[in-house]
Amino acid sequence: MARRTKVYEGKAKILYEGPEPGTLVQYFKDDATAFNAEKRDVIDGKGVLNNFLSEFVMNGLNQMGVPTHFIRRLNMREQLIRSVEIIPLEVVVRNIAAGSMSKRLGIEEGTALPRPIIEFYYKDDALGDPLVTEDQILAFNWASHQDLDDMVALAVRVNDFLSGVMLAVGIRLIDFKIEIGRQFDGDMQRLVVADEISPDSCRLWDVKTGQKLDKDVFRRDLGDLADAYSEVARRLGVMPKSPTPITRPKLMN
Ligand code: UDP
Repeated sequence: MARRTKVYEGKAKILYEGPEPGTLVQYFKDDATAFNAEKRDVIDGKGVLNNFLSEFVMNGLNQMGVPTHFIRRLNMREQLIRSVEIIPLEVVVRNIAAGSMSKRLGIEEGTALPRPIIEFYYKDDALGDPLVTEDQILAFNWASHQDLDDMVALAVRVNDFLSGVMLAVGIRLIDFKIEIGRQFDGDMQRLVVADEISPDSCRLWDVKTGQKLDKDVFRRDLGDLADAYSEVARRLGVMPKSPTPITRPKLMN
């Protein structure tokens, strides 16, 4: 493979320079981390599954007119994306109480919220990505009033799309996180959905059984993470085809 320039390496993905100016190649690793990287493991096949699942969601969003950084999938582990300037905020949308909100506010996990709730977290590993207020965001210039309006609008549209897509295959979208980037076109900038949208960044529960099909399987040691992600991919019809099918040897009688 030709040598490429690595632009950035995160916990689950690597970004390389893309083939044309303004593009990047996003590579999905098998690494899983949780609790600010205190818990870590390598889960065979996770990167491939997230590449395909994120492609499916980003393509759907693009088709619905919700702008994303996604251009196209290149291979099992890589996708071509537009280079954007990431806003240093994680945008979390919650439909059902779970995780940190349940803990912080003492609301039992699984309680339906009266309306979707949007929260912002400041992206800073050293600080453990703290929850921040809109006033703090404006005061510290992480985003403008207009950016905040646009971010909320994007988050609501992603929630509407993703919750519908998941419900259609018997999955409840409990909550999710997105990252948003600035895409520059001359003097103009627009905000687009960036990073990835996959079971690494969503909570997904089976409608009938409540079984968790997301990264909580890893965080809480509930079973095989790749099996859970494969089930989501299978239901959505986006199972990646193995280039070399694994065939077990058969016992001859
Ligand atoms: N989330 C994420 N990355 C983070 C923090 C949260 O993708 O760094 C996702 C998480 O998977 C869940 C949602 O955002 O779908 C809300 O997470 P929460 O605040 O409950 O935090 P957690 O309990 O995961 O620490």
